[in-house]
Amino acid sequence: MATQLTTDSVEQVKMLCGGQWRAAGGERSGEVYNPSTGQVIAKVPFCTVAEVDEVVQAAAAALPAWAETPVVERAQMLFRFRELIKADFDELAQCLTREHGKTLAESRASVQRGVEMVEFACAAPSLIMGQCIENIAPNVDSETIRHPVGVCVGITPFNFPAMVPLWMYPLAIACGNTFVLKPSEKVPLSAVRMGALLMEAGLPEGVFNIVHGDKECVDALITHPLVRAISFVGSTKIAKYIYETGTQHGKRVQAAGGAKNHLIIMPDADLDQSVAALAASAYGCAGERCMAGSVALPVGDIGDRLVERLCEKAGGMKTGPTSDGEGVDMGPVISREHLERVSGYLDIGVSEGAALPLDGRKVDYKGDGFIIAPSVLDKVEPGMRVAKEEIFGPVLSVIRAKNLDQALAIGRECEFGNGASIFTRSGWAARRFKRHFNAGMIGINIGVPAPMAWFPFTGWNKSFFGDLHIQGTEGIQFYTQQKMTMTRWFESATESHHDPVWKSK
Ligand code: NAD
Repeated sequence: MATQLTTDSVEQVKMLCGGQWRAAGGERSGEVYNPSTGQVIAKVPFCTVAEVDEVVQAAAAALPAWAETPVVERAQMLFRFRELIKADFDELAQCLTREHGKTLAESRASVQRGVEMVEFACAAPSLIMGQCIENIAPNVDSETIRHPVGVCVGITPFNFPAMVPLWMYPLAIACGNTFVLKPSEKVPLSAVRMGALLMEAGLPEGVFNIVHGDKECVDALITHPLVRAISFVGSTKIAKYIYETGTQHGKRVQAAGGAKNHLIIMPDADLDQSVAALAASAYGCAGERCMAGSVALPVGDIGDRLVERLCEKAGGMKTGPTSDGEGVDMGPVISREHLERVSGYLDIGVSEGAALPLDGRKVDYKGDGFIIAPSVLDKVEPGMRVAKEEIFGPVLSVIRAKNLDQALAIGRECEFGNGASIFTRSGWAARRFKRHFNAGMIGINIGVPAPMAWFPFTGWNKSFFGDLHIQGTEGIQFYTQQKMTMTRWFESATESHHDPVWKSK
């Protein structure tokens, strides 16, 4: 096993190169915290540029044999991986909670979403099937076949330490590629634990590899001549950089970025259901979700009632350390620095003229964990920073809209375009919203319309850079390249009597 999870000692996180676990040799390293206690639980030595090269070379060396392995066998490997994740499910969820701070229930749900990605990838034999038209011209047949693209790289964020890597490598590997994962240096433990399970499933050495580090390591990966495709998930600034640098170096890139997700509440909405969904959307995972609702848009006269009920609901959520088990509704944010950033946004909102009817900084907590409770900013105007910028914490900004068209217009001005939801009983309003809201993932009476494995994660605007999204059949297209073959056979009386040249030794 690559990681020790049960002790409180500070473990050294290892890299995985060509099937071998070892400590990276770089002089720099990162620290992994338990956000519930504020304690350092692991150190991650960063890989040197030479080590990144060695790992990519190992992935390239493993490629020909893996690409030649029948897709049915590749899928069987993933079936075994799925069984091992299922068997390790509780420990994996605990590991995730320990390094990230989510509640155990949230960790379990995110591992489950990841398992579904593995299950989707297990269907690779059906998913990569080509197309064929017989007799497209007289005596000519035409077909397309999907080939792997080569060495693929995945660079992932801190907020879903198990799920987001699972968006990438099961599909890439199922399609016959080899893979190098660079997990977030803030939360590498779950990714390493899953890497160990993949090795246990019997994956040949070099097919899946892990490197650690920050910009230096990422730059070495995305400019490496042997890397063919890059999947990235993280903030918009870095997603744009990865897309531009990767494509300049001739790679195909899918890069998912940050978000500012809007939740519209129509005057006819079921208030109880809507408030529950809003609170779960904005404060679930401490607001550290790219699909978290971060702007509520009550329409018409529902605003005051909504804010009152929302403050009641969010103010009643128990926030605290998650390491003690299931007792809390919301855990800590990822780091002390991030806690201060989120807290700073509350000051920014107030200085811009917003009201703060619920201030999460007034939480009853004395420990060293990175704890901040849910906050509500009210009377927010569309031009304010708290209305436009991604806070990525448990803060919901409320902008009152006169009517649905005004709410749609606010969405049009948003530079992001991940998710948006409407709460209503009106089919007309829901349909109008669905057709016209400026975002790629739409919820109707759903707080977090994040697609499951079988559908693509269709962020728009600055929430995504690239052409083919992560997950679903777009993921299959991303990790494969098509070859088209046209075939014509001539009728010949002598043909079958001759040994074909290629048969003679
Ligand atoms: P981040 O952009 O800081 O880091 C993401 C990855 O990029 C990490 O592996 C990190 O090591 C690397 N990185 C950081 N700075 C870099 C640099 N200068 N050059 C090269 N690589 C660099 O993101 P984060 O803080 O870990 O994650 C939170 C962000 O991720 C939020 O903006 C959130 O919305 C976004 N996110 C988006 C989606 C989506 O599907 N759109 C999903 C999850 C998270």
